[in-house]
Amino acid sequence: MTGFVHSFESMAAVDGDGLRCAVFLAGCPMRCVYCHNPDTWHTEGGRETEAEALVRKIARYKPYFGKDGGVTFSGGEPLAQAEFLRSMMPLLAEQGIRYAVDTAGGVPLTETVKEVLSGAQEVLLDLKFPDDAGYRRYTGVGIDRPLAILDFLNAIGKKTRVRTVIVPDLNDTEEALLSYLVHLADKSCVDRYELLGFHTMGFFKYEKLGIANPLAGKKALDPAVKQRLQAFVDEKMKENR
Ligand code: SF4
Repeated sequence: MTGFVHSFESMAAVDGDGLRCAVFLAGCPMRCVYCHNPDTWHTEGGRETEAEALVRKIARYKPYFGKDGGVTFSGGEPLAQAEFLRSMMPLLAEQGIRYAVDTAGGVPLTETVKEVLSGAQEVLLDLKFPDDAGYRRYTGVGIDRPLAILDFLNAIGKKTRVRTVIVPDLNDTEEALLSYLVHLADKSCVDRYELLGFHTMGFFKYEKLGIANPLAGKKALDPAVKQRLQAFVDEKMKENR
């Protein structure tokens, strides 16, 4: 089977546990206002790749993975190509390579999506906004999709890292974060709630692609604000445990 790959990063230290390589799949059903990768939105912008060839490429980095590492499938939205991911599962297993999925959860929870999530060593799931109105306004999809995925991950006890991008004047207050935390209160699968600071490093891509940037002129999040808010959610997560 073939899939569409946007890019490949040989050693990504951040997207999942241990030393990893990252495969960014092309195509995304969402249109987040703060997206810094608009170049990944369209499947046809990716390179058509055979599952076997991609696994061979990933396997070259196997000596570096160690006990915790592996490959992280990111995007775009990797679960938009769930059939392709499923086709790689036995090939990766044959090689003894574990995979993580870095998803925004903007796809329906199909049987194939469930299978792919079940086989992952870890799932990184975005919780972009705390309510349906925010989701629809700022991402183009409803909150029902990521919440259904989170419910499923909790039901199967899958190690999950939930992430939220903090954008100045949009969700950069403790009060705003309390409404996100409501969704995590009864989710024992969540081992970490991580905040990411909005940045402007992808702005040039909008210009290059000739796409209007909804947040043009917005400043990056002050790292000190991110640190303070992360300490706040860490404390709240501890209280919930
Ligand atoms: S889900 Fe990710 S890739 Fe898709 S629009 Fe949002 S930020 Fe961009």
